[in-house]
Order: sequence, then C-alpha cells, then structure tokens
Amino acid sequence: LQEMDRVCLESKQNGESGGGSRILVFVRLRPMGKKEREIGARCCVRIVNRRDVYLTEFATENDYLRLKRLRGRHFTFDASFPESTTQLEVYSTTTAELVEAVLEGRNGSVFCYGATGAGKTYTMLGTVENPGVMVLAIKDLFNKIRQRSCDGNHVVHLSYLEVYNETVRDLLSPGRPLVLREDKQGIVAAGLTQYRAYSTDEVMALLQQGNQNRTTEPTRANETSSRSHAILQVMVEYHAKDASNNIVNRVGKLSLIDLAGSERALATDQRTLRSLEGANINKSLLALSSCINALVEGKKHIPFRNSKLTQLLKDSLGGACNTVMIANISPSNHSFGETQNTLHWADRAKEIRTKACEANEEIMQVPESGTDQAKLLLELQKEN
Ligand code: ADP
Ligand code: MG
Repeated sequence: LQEMDRVCLESKQNGESGGGSRILVFVRLRPMGKKEREIGARCCVRIVNRRDVYLTEFATENDYLRLKRLRGRHFTFDASFPESTTQLEVYSTTTAELVEAVLEGRNGSVFCYGATGAGKTYTMLGTVENPGVMVLAIKDLFNKIRQRSCDGNHVVHLSYLEVYNETVRDLLSPGRPLVLREDKQGIVAAGLTQYRAYSTDEVMALLQQGNQNRTTEPTRANETSSRSHAILQVMVEYHAKDASNNIVNRVGKLSLIDLAGSERALATDQRTLRSLEGANINKSLLALSSCINALVEGKKHIPFRNSKLTQLLKDSLGGACNTVMIANISPSNHSFGETQNTLHWADRAKEIRTKACEANEEIMQVPESGTDQAKLLLELQKEN
C-alpha cells in the first residue's frame, strides 16, 4: 500500500503507559549429557521454586576463587527451568505472550545465550520429536490466525539469517553476503529472502535446512560453528476493515535468536573486555556485552553500530519491543566457570528496560470507488 496516499486517522498506542518494560530473563538448565556422566561430572546447579538458581559445587580451586571474586552463588530470575522442563513449557512461559502481541502489531524478540553445548539450539530449534521455540511459535501463530481468520487477512513471512565473522548470510537461500541498510522500519538486510509461509508443516523442514546452512568450523565439518549467530524473523501483516469501513493495517515482527557460544566472549569486566577486543574473538558478542553494559548504566550513546549483530538487534534491545532472554546452562561442575559467567550476564540483563512497546498500526479511509487507489486496493486484496 506504499504507493497510496495514506490518510492516517488514528495511531493507537497500546504500550505500557509512560515508561518501557523490563527485559524478562529466564534460565534453562539442561540435563546432564551421556559423555558428562561417563567422565564422572557432578551437578553443580540447583533450581528451587522455579525461580532461584544456586551454584552448589565447584570443580577446581580456580572456580572457588572465582566464586569469591564475583560473589555470584545465588541468582533469581523471572523463571528458572530445571532439567525436566519440556519444550512446550519453555515456549508457553517465555514466548507465547510475544506471539499474541505480534498479532496485535507489536515487535518482540527472544534470544538464547550461553556457552557452546549449553542447549541454545535445542531450545530454539529443537529436534523433529521435540521442536523448540521457533517451531512452536510458528505453530501457535498459525493456530491463533485460524481462530481470528473471520476478522481479517493475515500474511506471514519468514526470514532466517546468520551473522558469522561480521558477515550476514541468508540461511534460506545461501549465497553472497548481505548488506545491512537503514530504512524507515529500522535496519534491514538488503535482498534477504522473505518466505511466505502458509502452514506449520513446511516450517520445521525449512528451518532444519536453514540450520544446516549455518557456517561450520573447518575442523569440525558436521558441527555448527560456535561463533555463528542465527536469527529467525517472523513478520506478521494484518489487513482488515473496521466497523466504520476504514482500512486497518498492522505489522508485527518477532525475532528469535540463537546466539553464538558465549564462552570467553562475554567478559565480566572492562579490562578483560578490552584484551579480548584486541584478540578479535567475536566482535558481535563483545559488542552485545558493551551494549548491555551501556543500557544498564543508562548511557545516552549505545554502541549498536559496533557490530552486525547489535545493528540487527537494535530495535530489540533499545527500541519499542517485548524482549525475552533465555540463558542456557549445563549442570556439569566442569562447566562451572561458563555457567557462572552466563548467570552473571543474565542477572545484569534483568536491569535493561526497553521503550514502551507500541503497535505498528495505521487506519486509513477507504478510497472512493473508481479511483486509482481503490483499484490498487482491490488488486492487493485479490493477491492476499
Ligand atoms: P548449543 O546450541 O548451546 O551449543 P545444543 O542445543 O546443541 O547446545 O545442546 C548440546 C547437546 O545437549 C545436544 O546434543 C542437545 O540435543 C542436548 N540438549 C540440550 N538441551 C537439552 C534438553 N533440555 N533436553 C535434552 N537434551 C538437551
Ligand atoms: Mg548451537
């Protein structure tokens, strides 16, 4: 409808009045793996009341010193999921409300972070038998659209992209790296595939295929690189006529993000951060931790432009958006340091506030019949 003259009668503000909202932070503990059991790993994490996380045991003297230095032994989150938590429970608690909001034209984003092997991809993508948040969100979205189909026209598009080594790639149609551009909707990757999705069935296969297109480390050809970030964007457009015969257009975007392994990259203090920057470990994750620090400290300038990942996440972290973080952790005492690091960042992320989340909605008068605008509208309606 871009070519048409828009007569904006009303711009609804559905956000929380006044300020924004806090990022919701969840922790998911995965079960002990077979290999970990074989080497006699012990569980060093305990979750109490589905909220409190305690680090109970440490493997080495070094861990003990760390524990004392960071004082991080007990943490509390919006919810903490023990080993036995199902994919559906994780989805319902963390993401279901965001899917509802996206249908109302509000943006949302969920990201998983944690060390390699902590369960990020399992949580986001999952397996065919146990699909994760990405698949469950799309399934739920189509169910909700079906329930509402009588009152309007919904169109769903998917994009799946990767940030690896500061290049952005299309995971649905691999090829040349994509260039990021700023337009009035924010940062967009030029030429990114927008896959029109009609049902859930096709989506799991599509995402599995996309995941296989993620960059692998040359030495471990079958494993996704621990440095690859994957972002699924679900765009939901809505067109309808309201009671006064005006046209209502709404668009919501849900971003579901499987971040690169946070080991060594999310430094807990500025000094380590600087030395890591020199070592060029993972520019995007370092930039993410700088942005989180700046947001928490209430700085005016947030360095989103420092990396591709933070450019893409700008409207998720600093903009008008419902944001959820899921921190994934391993139970093994051998991962103590990583777990403590992840919990430290999760704890810090609780302090981030996003701007009030308003609906992207416009209401226009129906053009008089016979005019060019009316003809265009008719064509658009036929297309949908
Ligand atoms: P990451 O993406 O963080 O590197 P993965 O999601 O690949 O980690 O998980 C590492 C391994 O642990 C995989 O084999 C995965 O299937 C398994 N796993 C992770 N989380 C769970 C869980 N909640 N339940 C069962 N298996 C899990
Ligand atoms: Mg992974």
